[in-house]
Amino acid sequence: MISIKSKREIELLKVAGRIVYQTHQYLKPYIKAGITTKELDRLAEEFIRSKDATPSFKGYEGFPATLCTSINSQVVHGIPDDTKLKDGDIISVDIGACYKGYHGDSAWTYTVGKVDEEIKRLLADTEKSLFVGLNEIKPGAHIGDIGAAIEEYATSHKLGVVRELCGHGVGTSVHEAPDVPNFGTRGKGPVLKEGMVIAVEPMLTLGSPEIYIYDNDWTIDTIDESPSAHFEHTVVVTKDGYQILTTGDEENG
Ligand code: MG
Ligand code: MG
Repeated sequence: MISIKSKREIELLKVAGRIVYQTHQYLKPYIKAGITTKELDRLAEEFIRSKDATPSFKGYEGFPATLCTSINSQVVHGIPDDTKLKDGDIISVDIGACYKGYHGDSAWTYTVGKVDEEIKRLLADTEKSLFVGLNEIKPGAHIGDIGAAIEEYATSHKLGVVRELCGHGVGTSVHEAPDVPNFGTRGKGPVLKEGMVIAVEPMLTLGSPEIYIYDNDWTIDTIDESPSAHFEHTVVVTKDGYQILTTGDEENG
């Protein structure tokens, strides 16, 4: 069952989304060689709480932190620790915040210092694939249209699509129906309606998209250790398209 959000709910989801966006902007200047992921986590938690919100992921199914910090070949669900960022790293930072019971969810992959050209391309193309997927969203479109568009874009740019993880509905729970896979068939899957809220989140790799999970039961990494990137926005389906909720004040009015 995919819920349709009321106007009031969408207003609260916008506030939550804006807080997630602001947390990304707040963290950005700190993402430099020498900082630990635990320190980034502490900064993010303080910032989210200063906005009268709570971290969505902390305690979610036992996840121990505010952020998911996934470095280089780690795909998602990296746990902040004493690892220091180094020049040439990439780090995917996934942030969820809950405001008055409603969540926002957005991930972004950042570079640390100078990174290889190939990695820059991975980041640019993964970000592009997110928007290629989002551009399919309008009432009457199918969930499969989003995945098909992302998969076509990734494949034509010789990137791997991680298939075991997907986007999702967002509302009073950070993960709701429906699943939003990053692959699919046009015209298949649930039909989108105005007022649905979903997170779209392609996870693409430079090499093979095969993954494994660490002994900590959370962190997901590529088997061939190829770098991976993750870009995510939470959006609401509007009358004629979509609006991004996890964005700044100007666009998210
Ligand atoms: Mg996320
Ligand atoms: Mg998500």
